[in-house]
Amino acid sequence: MARIVMKFGGTSMAGTERIRRVANIVRAQAAKGDQVAVVVSAMAGETDRLVNFCREANPLYDPAEYDVVVASGEQVTSGLLALTLQALGCKARSWLGWQLPIHTIEAHAKARVESIDSDALIASLEAGEIAVIPGFQGLSQDNRITTLGRGGSDTSAVAVAAAIKADRCDIYTDVDGVYTTDPRIVAKARKQKAVTYEEMLELASVGAKVLQTRSVGLAMKEKVRVQVLSSFIGEGAPPADDLPGTMIVSDEEMDDLVEKGLMERQLVTGIAHDKNEAKVILTRVPDRPGAVANIFEPLAAASINVDMIIQNVGRDKGETDVTFTVPQSDLARAQALLEDRRDAIGFNRIITDSKIAKISVVGVGMKSHAGVASTMFRALSDRGINIQAISTSEIKISVMIDEDETELAVRVLHTAYGLDAVS
Ligand code: ASP
Ligand code: MG
Repeated sequence: MARIVMKFGGTSMAGTERIRRVANIVRAQAAKGDQVAVVVSAMAGETDRLVNFCREANPLYDPAEYDVVVASGEQVTSGLLALTLQALGCKARSWLGWQLPIHTIEAHAKARVESIDSDALIASLEAGEIAVIPGFQGLSQDNRITTLGRGGSDTSAVAVAAAIKADRCDIYTDVDGVYTTDPRIVAKARKQKAVTYEEMLELASVGAKVLQTRSVGLAMKEKVRVQVLSSFIGEGAPPADDLPGTMIVSDEEMDDLVEKGLMERQLVTGIAHDKNEAKVILTRVPDRPGAVANIFEPLAAASINVDMIIQNVGRDKGETDVTFTVPQSDLARAQALLEDRRDAIGFNRIITDSKIAKISVVGVGMKSHAGVASTMFRALSDRGINIQAISTSEIKISVMIDEDETELAVRVLHTAYGLDAVS
């Protein structure tokens, strides 16, 4: 007997027919004698619809009331799944975020899980009930509903798995695992048997949409075993234990898999792209201590995340250009904040461009191998793709390019690193 958390995303929950399919998958897992807690997303598109209602009601909406509205999508699907499981003859009970409760801290609309009271939940699992928990929801310190930020149901699932010490957290989604890159762009993309937490964290943060970044960080910290699987499996498919999803593993486990010949040692594990960033250039910024702090402090205070940053070598007049990226959705705000501080910062012009994309290659193999970056730069230049900015971490290299060249760049790099599947 194992204790399993199963998480189903919005596509899997979109409509009663799909919920029935999910209920069958859940029933099969429970029928093995496992204790099962299920975490669900709202129906696909529902959260967007609810967000729009908030914007229409009040463009400057209060995030606390926004949470009341958007958390409702998951309340509907959790109740429907419990009802469907009951119709299949299973004992099932829903547990809303405030009922458990899932205690959260920090701001509304982007709350963080602090702790989960799991005693009643565990007692219910031990009594043979299937628990159905709406993802995305929590409870603030002052007893109000909170939500965990878009895509937050993944984090709910991992947090529940950590709280009940689950043997595994299976994330069922509309892709059947983690691929070397987006299979819609590269037909020869390969599904990975395993990727490390660290790689998954980087991949999620640079635009691979399989898992919410925070959920991976939490899984890594709490050592939760996470598996990514497809929810579009036929009736009578084997239980998840035997399905070929992608397992998120520690470095040691990865070494073990390589030693046993179950995984190949790869230099690059994945290539991700992100078209949601925008570039900002400030020209003729004074080249002296404190100048960049003056630029980035107001952005940080407004919770605007800055990603790539380049500062050019100073020109003769003690001036320099500073280029950086922000999420496209924050561009207008960032621009307004900087314009307001034009005199304090002392720049000449703001130039912005949202027609850019960030392409990233990720792999722990980079730690010990030289040449990963030069392969990237050469492969892109051979196709005439211009690199506008570069940033790196220990296991990642990102470049900024023209958005129109995104697909080409991803394909070229997939081939350059030898990731294409041999057919
Ligand atoms: N329903 C929420 C969203 O669309 C949370 C989730 O599905 O993970 O962002
Ligand atoms: Mg999701």
